[in-house]
Amino acid sequence: MALDAMRSPCPHCGSTVFYKAPDPYVLAKVVQDEVGNISFKGSAGIPVVVVACDACGHIQLFSAVKTGDWNIGVELPVVT
Ligand SMILES: [Zn+2]
Repeated sequence: MALDAMRSPCPHCGSTVFYKAPDPYVLAKVVQDEVGNISFKGSAGIPVVVVACDACGHIQLFSAVKTGDWNIGVELPVVT
C-alpha cells in the first residue's frame, strides 16, 4: 500500500520518481544508563519504510505499519 504522501513530489527537488527499499528498517530507541553508556534497542524501535528520490537522493521515512509493510506482533531484532 502506498500512502498519498509517497506520491507527492520530492520536497527537495520536485521530482516524482522514487525508489523504495525492499525491506522495512527500524528507528531504534536510544537508551542511556546511569553511568552514561548508550545502547540502541531495536525491539523498542519504530519500523519504517525508506523511500528515496531518484533525482537527488533525498530520503523520506514512512511508518511501515501505515504502508502495510510491517506485520504487527513480529519482534524486531535488538540492535546493540
Ligand atoms: Zn529530489
